[in-house]
Order: sequence, then structure tokens, then C-alpha cells
Amino acid sequence: MVKVKKCSFCGYDIPIGRGVMFIQKNGVIYNFCTNKCRKALLVYKKKARKTRWTAYYGKE
Ligand SMILES: [Zn+2]
Repeated sequence: MVKVKKCSFCGYDIPIGRGVMFIQKNGVIYNFCTNKCRKALLVYKKKARKTRWTAYYGKE
């Protein structure tokens, strides 16, 4: 059974067969729905709670 994964950055569900998986050298696994999310977290180091288009925006 394949479970629907949530994007590590924006928090929305990733449709089966979509998305990007990224494994850091230290073994931490991230799942991203799009490259936009991958870049936001890994390149721009954005905070999901301060990024408007995420599910976490405005939440504590
Ligand atoms: Zn995402």
C-alpha cells in the first residue's frame, strides 16, 4: 500500500507518483510536492509558517 505523503515544506498532500524525494547526507528524508518547495526549504531556507502558499502559514 502506498500512503499519500505530505510535502515537507508546504504540508499539502503529494499525489502518488508525483513529487520529489530528497535525502540529506545525514539521512534525513524530505518529500517535496514540487521543485518550488524543494528550493524554498533547501536553497532559500524559508520558514513554512511565514510563507503564504503553505498549509502552515499563519499557524502556530
Ligand atoms: Zn510542497
